[in-house]
This record gives sequence, C-alpha cells and structure tokens, in this order.
Amino acid sequence: MGRFGKVSRTLASILKRILRSPKSRYVGRMPRLADIDLEATSIGGIETCIQLPPLDLAFDIGRCPRGAENRSRIFLTHTHMDHASGLAYHASLRDLLGRPPPTYFVPRDNLADLELLLATYRRLDRSDIPCVFVACGPGDQLVLGKNRTVHPFRSPHRIFCQGYAVHARKKKLRSEFVGLPDQELRRLRMEGVEIQEERHEIEVAFSGDATIDVVELHADVRQAKLLILECTFIDMDMNPGSARARGHVHLHDIIERADLFENQHILLTHFSMRYGEGKIVDTLRRLLPKNLRGRLSALLADGRVVGPFD
Ligand SMILES: [Zn+2]
Ligand SMILES: [Zn+2]
Repeated sequence: MGRFGKVSRTLASILKRILRSPKSRYVGRMPRLADIDLEATSIGGIETCIQLPPLDLAFDIGRCPRGAENRSRIFLTHTHMDHASGLAYHASLRDLLGRPPPTYFVPRDNLADLELLLATYRRLDRSDIPCVFVACGPGDQLVLGKNRTVHPFRSPHRIFCQGYAVHARKKKLRSEFVGLPDQELRRLRMEGVEIQEERHEIEVAFSGDATIDVVELHADVRQAKLLILECTFIDMDMNPGSARARGHVHLHDIIERADLFENQHILLTHFSMRYGEGKIVDTLRRLLPKNLRGRLSALLADGRVVGPFD
C-alpha cells in the first residue's frame, strides 16, 4: 500500500492511467534488437534511461521518464544529472503507486552521497521513500535471476562511471540435432539422449558515458549480442579529440575501430541535442563502413530507433 493508505488507491489508479496515456513520450515504443525488448530514451546532457522490461531493470534513471516507475532494479552508471537526477523521484513514485521498494545498484564511490541525497529528500518530503542501495563495482557479479548475472565494468568518463553487461546461461539444442523434426527430438529425449547443452551468452552491454577506450578495454563490450554504446558527437564541429576531452565517443572513433565490434547489433545512444534526425541518419548513411551498416541503429531524441543502414 502507498504512503496515503486507503485514499491512495483512487489516486494510484488515476496516476497509473496518466502514466499509461498514449501521450506519454516513451510508452508504446519498444524496439526489439538482438532478441531484446527495449524502452529507451537518451539525449546527451538531457536524459538517459534504458529500460529492459522483460528483465525488470533499467540502466540509469534519467529524469525518471514515464514507464520507468515500473522497473524495480536500476543500474546506475554515474551521477551526472542526465543519468541520475530522477532517482529519488523514481523511489517516491513507486511508493505512491504502492509498488515494492526499488533496488539501486550504484558505483561504490557514490553510495554515501546517494544515501545522503535520499535522506535529505526524506526530510524535505516528510516521507519514507523506501528503497535499497547496493554498492557495486568492476569484478562483481550481481545475481539477476536463476540464469543471469550483471557484471559492472569501468567506463572512462569525466567522473567515475561504470557500464554493465548482462550474462546469461541458456539451454540450446546441440548443433548436431538442429533441423531434426520435433518427433525425432522427442524420441531421442525419451531414449535419454541429452539433446540440449548449456551455453554462456553476453546478452547486452551498456557503456554509460565513456570514451571509445571502453570498447578496447572490455571483451564484454565487444562481444555482447546487443551493445548499447554512447555516441555523443558525429561531426567535425566537435572533433574526436574534443569529444575525448569531454569523456565521450565520437562517431569517427567507432568507424576507426569497426573491426573490433563482434556484436550482433549495436545501438548508438546519447547523441548531442545539437543533432536532429536528418543529420544523424544522413551522417550514418554516408560514413558507416560496410561491416557495421547492417547491424547498427541509432536511438533518436523522441525514442524511435532508426537503422540498420544497409
Ligand atoms: Zn550523459
Ligand atoms: Zn556523464
């Protein structure tokens, strides 16, 4: 039950209706990339929140975009305002809606400050704002469920930042049995033949804000089925050197290292607000090398995904 007890039921249902309204900027757009459903918003300096609804998690909370209140686990990459400012609001809104307290996985160095931030809001708001913090860092393996773990990794940025990779163990049909009719597979199973094997897979990696070094540093980033990579700058008004000095990726950096990416799909995010849809699409069409064209797309300011570009 929410913080207003019984009265909150009506309020909660009204709120739920508002939050589900088709006018909500980000509701109802759920691209599926490399078998993963996403609800994402990301504009450099404005807001980043990448939701994976089937896993009940989000990477960063941004300003808590509509729909993010449904995610009970938030993995925070760093504390820049465009990634973290909605945190207390997210906890408060979940409380208002009578949802279980969220868990925030946060960089170790940020734990004390974030707890202080929540304590301040509790005092200002005269409410409990229940939530749980879990401090974590590179080398940790956070259990997400029976078959999944989340692995934080260091992302070089202006302030401490860590990305996250979701590892999964999946049962798959052994390669020698692929293509056999169901009846035959059933028969083999009945005979006690082990037709499945367990495979390890990096389902998704999210860079957070980072320089291109994040790709060179971590195999998880290069090998994830879906890589969600920031690409703040795309033209020479902000050259790659200046992008690096600001702690960000330039499209030129990606093109230069095109051979490093083993990913099934790459979603570029966090474009500077100076670029409109036309500029992003034209630039990617013009400059992307052949081996990236067919497996790369871009997240636009309104939450739509454009691409691939082959
Ligand atoms: Zn940012
Ligand atoms: Zn940042």
